[in-house]
Amino acid sequence: MTEPRTITPAHQYRNNDKLIGIGNEFWDMSEHHGLAGIVADYDTGTGVLRARDGHETLPEGHEFVNFSCCSYLDLDSHPEVIEGAVRALRRYGVLDHCIARSRVQIPAMLELETSLGELFDAQVVCSIAASTATFGLLPLIASGHLGDGVRPLMIFDKNAHVSMANVKPVCADETEVVTSRHHDLDFIEDMCRKYDRVAYVCDGSDSLGGYAPVKELAELQDRYGLLVYYDDSHSLSAYGERGIGYVRTHNPARNDRTITVVTLNKAYGTSGAAIVLDGQSRKTLRVVERFGGALNYSQLLDTASVGAGLASAEIHRTDELTTLQNRLYRNIELFDSLVHTDQSNGTFPIRLVPMSDTTVIEAGRRIIEAGFYVSPVFFPIVARGTAGLRVMMRAGQSEQQIRDLCKVLVEAGARPAAPAAPAATGVPR
Ligand SMILES: *Cc1c(COP(=O)(O)O)cnc(C)c1O
Repeated sequence: MTEPRTITPAHQYRNNDKLIGIGNEFWDMSEHHGLAGIVADYDTGTGVLRARDGHETLPEGHEFVNFSCCSYLDLDSHPEVIEGAVRALRRYGVLDHCIARSRVQIPAMLELETSLGELFDAQVVCSIAASTATFGLLPLIASGHLGDGVRPLMIFDKNAHVSMANVKPVCADETEVVTSRHHDLDFIEDMCRKYDRVAYVCDGSDSLGGYAPVKELAELQDRYGLLVYYDDSHSLSAYGERGIGYVRTHNPARNDRTITVVTLNKAYGTSGAAIVLDGQSRKTLRVVERFGGALNYSQLLDTASVGAGLASAEIHRTDELTTLQNRLYRNIELFDSLVHTDQSNGTFPIRLVPMSDTTVIEAGRRIIEAGFYVSPVFFPIVARGTAGLRVMMRAGQSEQQIRDLCKVLVEAGARPAAPAAPAATGVPR
């Protein structure tokens, strides 16, 4: 008898042993200290969360304000968004009509795609999640079917969100895949000279501030036909006129060499995602619909999500969106005037308050006891040695809540912001 074989994995693009081995301990620690595994009821009037029974350390009924929620404009609880969901359910009379859209579909999602297409001035295809869209689209880009028919070298930015990085092994079965340093334009240009076609995959707006160099990339697109796949989930609605996001606001390459995906689940305030395209032929759109993996074989947005999406799109068309964006920016400014972070003075709503790996959990614990939730982040969510408390600002947070949070943050070890008056430096003007 031969010995049973053991398997040696390639681990070229992923390694669960490493990921879980290092990450899980920290999750256990977070949960043990009442900073993960929380179940809490949402109070519609105040937006305050109330912990349910069942957590090992967080007492039942403990109230806290969520400072770690990506619904930056609080549209997810907007009365018109809620009403839109209910109305659409009644209007279409069915929650979902389970069959691949390429065969038969009810017009619900088409209606949302038309509305978003008008909002973005683009061709829009919806999906149930940005992750689902990415998992469907990147392999089509790898094989050249979403592109000009030529297989591109695929460059994944080192910091590309996990929803994109996870698709590397699939793309690598269709073409060559490499990982670049963060926004390394020289490397990208070098590859553009060496390869027939290149596709670059990155975030439009980074979760810890910073934006993709869309103008410089557009030049490479123009010069070499570079295709860029942006995930601009973090800036949709929070940034730009009518909330069209960072990439769409600044990118001059509104053509078939730019593909942008955005979740509708963050500042947009509903469910699902939008694939934002320009200049794609009907034939290519059909290929996306038929061969974009889960875009075809999995569920579509249900009618409640579509109704919520239509209502949010209407809000995006009014001055209310600008009012909400301004409230968000005002709250970010107030935070920056009280606590210093590397992100201070940026327009992006996320702040990372640096802490050491050993103090981050204890600090988070102190803050939730004071009535605020901020999430501790750590390797492998972020790089080693860059642990901290992730704070997310929203339009709906009150001045008092922000002041109170910042007070506890400073007590827990955050660096207070420098006083506003720069006179102390003594530098003559
Ligand atoms: C949050 C986020 C996602 C996840 O979006 P889903 O629609 O929930 O899949 C994907 N990409 C980026 C960059 C994100 O920030």
